[in-house]
Amino acid sequence: MQDLESLLFQNRLLTEEVKRRIDQLAAINTVAATVSQSLDLDRTLTTALRAVLNVVGADAGGISLIDREAGEVVLRAQQGWTHDFVSPPMRIPLGKGMSGRVINSDDVVLDNHLDGSEELAVPRFKDENFRSIVMAPMHARGKIIGILSIMSLRPEAFNTEIVAMLKAIADTVGVALDNARLYETSVEQEKRLKAIFESTADGMIATDLNGRISLINHAAAAIFEVEASQLIGTPLREAPIHPRVCESLLFALSSRDEANKSFEVTLDNQRTLSFFVSPVYVESQVEQEQKTDGWVIIVQDISHLREAERQRAEFIQAAAHDMRNPLGVALSSLQMLNSFFKADTGAQEIIDIATRGVNRLQELINDLLNLEQIESGYGVRMEMVNIVELITDACAEIRPMLAEKQLTCTTDIQGQIPFILGDSKWLRRALFNYLDNAAKYTRPGDTITVRAFVADPFIHIEVVDNGPGIPAEAQARLFQRFYRAEGTEKIRGTGLGLAIVKSVAEAHNGSVYVRSRPDQGSTFGLTLKVQNELTPG
Ligand code: ADP
Repeated sequence: MQDLESLLFQNRLLTEEVKRRIDQLAAINTVAATVSQSLDLDRTLTTALRAVLNVVGADAGGISLIDREAGEVVLRAQQGWTHDFVSPPMRIPLGKGMSGRVINSDDVVLDNHLDGSEELAVPRFKDENFRSIVMAPMHARGKIIGILSIMSLRPEAFNTEIVAMLKAIADTVGVALDNARLYETSVEQEKRLKAIFESTADGMIATDLNGRISLINHAAAAIFEVEASQLIGTPLREAPIHPRVCESLLFALSSRDEANKSFEVTLDNQRTLSFFVSPVYVESQVEQEQKTDGWVIIVQDISHLREAERQRAEFIQAAAHDMRNPLGVALSSLQMLNSFFKADTGAQEIIDIATRGVNRLQELINDLLNLEQIESGYGVRMEMVNIVELITDACAEIRPMLAEKQLTCTTDIQGQIPFILGDSKWLRRALFNYLDNAAKYTRPGDTITVRAFVADPFIHIEVVDNGPGIPAEAQARLFQRFYRAEGTEKIRGTGLGLAIVKSVAEAHNGSVYVRSRPDQGSTFGLTLKVQNELTPG
């Protein structure tokens, strides 16, 4: 009989214990459900505190967050207090006072007998007359992010059960607050990035992998003279922008290799736009490697630079003309001197140095005059040009230079390359300049490939090398007159070779481009319109 009674008693105890546990779990769940409803940090702080006080039945409570940069614990929410400690917030140096004990021990601190004699970091806290307090550390992502406290005006208000429950609830609140804080930071960063994106003077466009425009800033829309809203969400091929720009961009985006690309496009109204296209990489969470996610295009209106360059060019051309004759005289005088001093080796050496200098100067003047000829159209002779034959001829012309450096050169002609209307002398010169550079700037033993293919409406001729490559910041300037990248001072050159290629391409209604990455070689390309309407000079 007694056994039965004790059994019944134990059973009742057990039932009560289970019920209590269920109540606790329900309370924790209630808090979890409440705090995860919002990503707004201030709202999460107040709703979390209200929910906690409801389930634990305390008179007051507070939530402090750790500001690691400032080295402080900052009270961000309070409820049931007499005085306002949130605005301005109560700030306690990290490690000081009761909150210091919580953080240092990384455990709950319980005091059911507050009597005003405690060492407090903020003495004003005594005015609240709390007699019991529990403070629990809140964790998120493996770190303490703050403290959840409950207080009572009565002594002996909190038992171990409440302490355990607060401990469990504190981490739930911690994770919710951390999420809200992360969200707030990311929203803030997004706003800041957007402000930078909109205020930069350079036009910027982002596309997905298929060339659909996902972002475009004010500057880019202004350069294209359209509303940004007309372009967002539109595939580039359907975008209401100049067809020449569209074609060049589509080609840059369609190439399989993921190097940066830069090119310029001259519009009918003589405006010149410069483009820089780079792939956007994102880290793949699953495969732990970088994947291309889309493209970012930087566009600048460089018409004013072109105009300044044109004026400078005019001046230089005039000077070159004036220097040509005196230089010719100087060279023939040196030749005469040479014959006078045949026997004197010392004098011969000096004459040799002077001759080399005059030759270099003549090379420069010839390049300048070449540029003038091609740009003015004077001396351009139109005929049907066989591009494949042109490539073979240019390769033969460069062969002695290649042999000197043990370079190998191969051709890669893809499909049928149609004849075009053009000037074979100038086109061969352009291709020779690309090949000459590939030979000059690669290392002994490197390989060079001349590739040709049709990507309607253009024929592409590319010279690909596996040389040292070119840094991104230099790429946009390569085709400018006299530009030579840093570190190439010791290699012979005038800085005009690529400018000549560009002028030849433009005279054939085409364009030039470069794709390169340091240490990964360079590809210099030249496009020529298949149905070419060249104006005879
Ligand atoms: P130059 O060769 O006379 O200096 P260019 O106009 O032909 O002038 O070339 C401009 C610059 O471009 C060169 O000085 C060099 O820095 C760079 N460059 C051209 N082609 C290559 C290449 N294949 N690899 C690396 N750099 C190159």
